Order: sequence, then C-alpha cells, then structure tokens
Amino acid sequence: MIERKCVGCGKLTNREDLIKITKEHSSNTLVINGNSRIFGRSAYLCYNKSCIENVFKKNKLQKILKSPVDPELKGKLINEL
Ligand SMILES: [Zn+2]
Repeated sequence: MIERKCVGCGKLTNREDLIKITKEHSSNTLVINGNSRIFGRSAYLCYNKSCIENVFKKNKLQKILKSPVDPELKGKLINEL
C-alpha cells in the first residue's frame, strides 16, 4: 500500500483513497485523478469537503504545485466527492 499525505489535513492515507491533482508537465494544466500517463508535480487530498476548503483558504495548492490555481478547481474537486 502506498500512502500519501493529504495537503488539507496532513494525514497519511492510502493513495487510492485520495484525490490526486497533477500539474501536467507538458501542458501546465491541472488534472484531477489523471491516469498514470500524466506526469508532473502532484498534490493529494482526502475526499472530504473540509480538506478541500482548507487548501483553498490557505493557498496551499499553489505552493505545492508551484503553479497558479484557478478558483474553479475548487468546484471541480467538490464535484468529485
Ligand atoms: Zn485530508
């Protein structure tokens, strides 16, 4: 089992149980739960509204992905719940 840390709450969780956000290296776009063919810097989040709210409140995604994050992404992530 591979564990990753949620950006929102900092808890280590099975990677399969987290939302993965990847900044695709070639296009510089953010992909939610992309397949393994997408390469780039990634952040992980629990399927949990409070974790999503938390990262947007503190601009944590920008810092981890080293990329501006469209506020629309928040709605897209909530749709994944
Ligand atoms: Zn979390």
